Amino acid sequence: MTFSWTQRQFVGGALCLDFANTVFYANDAERRGDRLRHASDIASWLEAACRFGAAGCYAPMLAVAADAFDVAAVADMLTLRQAVDDLFRAVAIEHAPSSLAMRRVLFELGSALSQTEIATGPDGLFPTLAASRPQTPVTARAAIAHSAIALSASPLSGRLKTCPNCSWIFVDRSRNASRLWCDMLTCGNRAKARRYHEVHREPAKT
Ligand SMILES: [Zn+2]
Repeated sequence: MTFSWTQRQFVGGALCLDFANTVFYANDAERRGDRLRHASDIASWLEAACRFGAAGCYAPMLAVAADAFDVAAVADMLTLRQAVDDLFRAVAIEHAPSSLAMRRVLFELGSALSQTEIATGPDGLFPTLAASRPQTPVTARAAIAHSAIALSASPLSGRLKTCPNCSWIFVDRSRNASRLWCDMLTCGNRAKARRYHEVHREPAKT
């Protein structure tokens, strides 16, 4: 059964980050989980990214049906996801991009663009595809990879953080750069509850 997506899985602030955040607890081998295992998961996520507004200008490129993803196309999507995660996790934690991760994302973008046409959007900056053209796994990969390159070239890349609870990567758009959690209502409250429990639990009996 595919995961039932809600707005809460789209809090990264960029399409590429929400895609990377389909893995949760990425830095904890015991708790790590992955919501994209099958073609149907990927198609469901692409649809939800459009429905919850995370796709933005890339939405026309993401309408890809599950049966369009064969085994190789699923593997290509997951390779791109790892490259995006490696790139922005390094920026968020070390404040410097990994040149290897950047090369991989650029390779993924080049590979996708070599297989599909992309046109400049109405604002002259962002790409779009004519609605009549067939959307394929390649157009979805091109959109996500382009989102990653656009973010890495944006001042917002200086505002990347990782959530101390679930390890998701997000753009901190708060005025004083004070956002700590991916989502205060989930990770923030869980951390508060855990601290409360630790402070109020009875001392261990000897
Ligand atoms: Zn979190």
